[in-house]
Amino acid sequence: MSTARHATGPALRVPTAVAARRADGDPALRAVGRTVHQPGALDRLQHRVREANDRLAAQGADAGEVLSWASAEVPRFAATSSFGVDSAVLLHLLSIHAPATPVIFLDTGLHFDETLAYRDHLADLFDLDVVTVTPSLTVADQRRLFASRLSSTDPGTCCMLRKDLPLTAALAAVDGWASGVRRDQTATRAALPLVGTAVKGGRTLVKVSPLAGWTDDRVADHRRRHDLPPHPLEARGYRSIGCWPCTRPTAPDEGARAGRWAEAERDECGIHVDEDGRIVRDAAAVVR
Ligand code: SF4
Repeated sequence: MSTARHATGPALRVPTAVAARRADGDPALRAVGRTVHQPGALDRLQHRVREANDRLAAQGADAGEVLSWASAEVPRFAATSSFGVDSAVLLHLLSIHAPATPVIFLDTGLHFDETLAYRDHLADLFDLDVVTVTPSLTVADQRRLFASRLSSTDPGTCCMLRKDLPLTAALAAVDGWASGVRRDQTATRAALPLVGTAVKGGRTLVKVSPLAGWTDDRVADHRRRHDLPPHPLEARGYRSIGCWPCTRPTAPDEGARAGRWAEAERDECGIHVDEDGRIVRDAAAVVR
């Protein structure tokens, strides 16, 4: 059906792949690094982001309008997707409102085969430009190096090696990115703005959350109305899906994310957490 391209390889290849995309847009929204002397650049970026967030929220902009704004204004704009249970919603909207946006997928080497098949299916269905990012350290080398299964003994380090570092490397080539995170998913996401900033790799980037205010019901309704294909594991009781060692099906009376890191006190893998430990980095009041 399509010619969706899958760039697969080690993390260091990805910045070049993403950087090849368009780089116009609002120069004030270019990522700002700590080490580059750009007087006033960070203030301008934060001011512009706050202005955009307030305006889009005041207009009651829908997710598609947020994505259209971001793809027009953020110079090198990308998206990330875990190709999990609800991922089809953001990807469907991207394909309509920001179709040239590269979609970064972190392949930790520990995903279910069904997730990889779902990624390929959605990439074809929506004609997505999926850039698959892999950690430098293979799963086998990681086990040898740490003489244990880190996902059980130290999930924080495992997520840092297999998710956060590769994502940070990929984001080194972009000025901003969108993801499908929502305020109602975890307590730490409750203050998520539509448009904010996040620090990755010492750079402040624009972080766009078009679905920030969506609820489970709204997501389910969008999926139904647009007949979006389900993740193959959903029918088996998986409602939030990450790496197989840290994911289990949930009972109907449990929250969807109860099946993630069920053995550990953990509800974030770190990729949506700022380098100073905050989920968002924006002094602006959140306007829902
Ligand atoms: S989700 Fe689990 S297996 Fe995947 S990177 Fe994090 S700790 Fe490791």
